[in-house]
Amino acid sequence: MEKKYYIFQKNKVVYRNNEEVPHPFDQKELDSITGRQSPLIMQEAPTEKGLITVELGENHPLPNGYDLVPLRSLLGWADDSLFGKWGKASQLLHWFNSNRFCGKCGSPTEPHPSEMARVCPGCLANHYPAISPCIIVLVYRKNEILLARACRFPIKLYSTLAGFIEPGETAEEALEREIFEEVQLRVRNIHYFKSQPWPFPGQLMLGFFAEYLSGEINIDGHEICDAGWYTYDRLPEIPSAGTIAGQLIRHHLENKTHEK
Ligand SMILES: [Zn+2]
Repeated sequence: MEKKYYIFQKNKVVYRNNEEVPHPFDQKELDSITGRQSPLIMQEAPTEKGLITVELGENHPLPNGYDLVPLRSLLGWADDSLFGKWGKASQLLHWFNSNRFCGKCGSPTEPHPSEMARVCPGCLANHYPAISPCIIVLVYRKNEILLARACRFPIKLYSTLAGFIEPGETAEEALEREIFEEVQLRVRNIHYFKSQPWPFPGQLMLGFFAEYLSGEINIDGHEICDAGWYTYDRLPEIPSAGTIAGQLIRHHLENKTHEK
């Protein structure tokens, strides 16, 4: 299989600025971007199915015709499959940069000969890419859905609730805890929707629906700055359809399968 190079610089995606969507590069184009004589340091994560991640040095000048774009901009711009590959390449790069040294004994790590792992020659520990599971949940009741604005969101964007799963928790327990911590509501009838890798830098979002059971919305004001019940015909600005949050909301509105 032909090798495909996913090139990053300063945590951003390198792309041809005359292309409709950012595609990976072949060997020839990689060479023309990096320049064989250039002193830049190039790091390659282990190859898998032809996907190779490359990071250009911060000060490496990009040739004319190329630009940088944040990975997040590819959501809804590139299709899911292409976004998934750039996301995977980005996660591998983050993992590589975080595991150059062994977390147990501090020795420099080396590529594993056959697996996607870094090996420590000092203590023989293997270091695999870490993925953090998160829950993301749409809470509904009758013809209303619960939407909240995270304090870190751009103003006006309202979304579903989300949070990391803690050690020892099931996804369902994490979901109930997060909902109670963020808005002090209880839910029932939890059901799974779908998942989405979220490479910022390495989450796996597990999407759920949950029916409101009891309580009054009461926000903490730290993580969540505003939250409320919204009817289907009067929605605030919601996340794009490229995100699992946007898909949870749209799926619920289109199907209303949970409506009583
Ligand atoms: Zn070690």
